[in-house]
Amino acid sequence: MERAATRSPALSALLAAVHASPGITRADAAAELGMASGYATETVARLVGLRLLEERAAAPTGRRGRPTTALHPHPDGPLVAAAAISHDSWRVAVVELGGGVVRSGAGAHSGDQEEVVRAVAASFDRAWRRYGTRIRAFAAAVPGTVNRNRLVHAPNLDWRDLDLVALRPGRASSVALLGGNDATFAGLAEQRCGAAVGTSTAVHLYLDCGVGGVLVDSGRAVLGTAGAAGEFGHLPFGSSSRRCGCGALGCWNTVLDGAAIARMVGQPAPRNAVAFAAEVLEAAAAGKPVELRAARALGRSLGRGAAGLVNALDPELVTVGGLGPALLAVAGRQVEAAYRRGLMAFRATGAPPIVPARFGADGPLTGAAEEGFARVLTGPGIDEWAALGG
Ligand SMILES: [Zn+2]
Repeated sequence: MERAATRSPALSALLAAVHASPGITRADAAAELGMASGYATETVARLVGLRLLEERAAAPTGRRGRPTTALHPHPDGPLVAAAAISHDSWRVAVVELGGGVVRSGAGAHSGDQEEVVRAVAASFDRAWRRYGTRIRAFAAAVPGTVNRNRLVHAPNLDWRDLDLVALRPGRASSVALLGGNDATFAGLAEQRCGAAVGTSTAVHLYLDCGVGGVLVDSGRAVLGTAGAAGEFGHLPFGSSSRRCGCGALGCWNTVLDGAAIARMVGQPAPRNAVAFAAEVLEAAAAGKPVELRAARALGRSLGRGAAGLVNALDPELVTVGGLGPALLAVAGRQVEAAYRRGLMAFRATGAPPIVPARFGADGPLTGAAEEGFARVLTGPGIDEWAALGG
């Protein structure tokens, strides 16, 4: 009986409203959800009883009627432990409902796979020892192709076949481990709480040592059968005579990655492709002609590819993250011109805009935590929490 009652959609809807706007008043949450005031009060009381929310006095509104309360995450409520591994560093954040970070850790790394796995696993383990089953999901964003929680290949680190489950503490094997590509998670972050909030379908392009991304549809990432969708850099928009690191011929990345940029500016292939690409864009912004020419070529390639994706996927908006905002700043005109040229004619009016992402380097970590909370905020997630003694 109680189980069926716990699954009331009102519980997850109200919880999601507080997650999106922590501190929202009960009255505003009820209005947003079209919920009668008495029912909202009752639903909030149940969420407070389950140690999911805490009610605090709200600032007086000056309106007549019963004073409302402000809804905050419960101080003993559920948490998500999220990690993001980049080409040269790692970060871990333990996040509460509403996105607040209650604990964090970070470190630089030299690219050694075992060293990074050990550091992140140790940080997750410390979090587990401190918070125990309050942690309802572990999530890890990694810079490579992920297939069913296995990192297949991280081209920039040359890591292969890493089982991401190794990051989760052994004693926490009943808690979900959600592994995913960094660009995918960054795109989710944009749709849930960034530049693409309110869109039903959005494409995110994440540019660093090549391009990846995600199609987000109705709040969910389109991940494909094995979770490996969104590898936009391996569409054949590149040089048809060049072999990509993935093994295919002619990938888009062959004209966008570190080696491609190095060829454009007449330098040897860089060791740290992301830092190198960032430096080239900086030099372009400072007006250095060789780098500016390279940035404009990258801009044209990005615009042309974005047009292909828009033609095929029909999004409302295209967000561009990673080094994308820096590229838009220096070669926005080239991006836009190539984009317009590549769009199907019927899209000429009302073409979806290409905009800079809200989250920079934080995108993958934010998106990983959001993916964890997507599980907590469902009926079954609330049931699981309630079964733990809430
Ligand atoms: Zn490829």
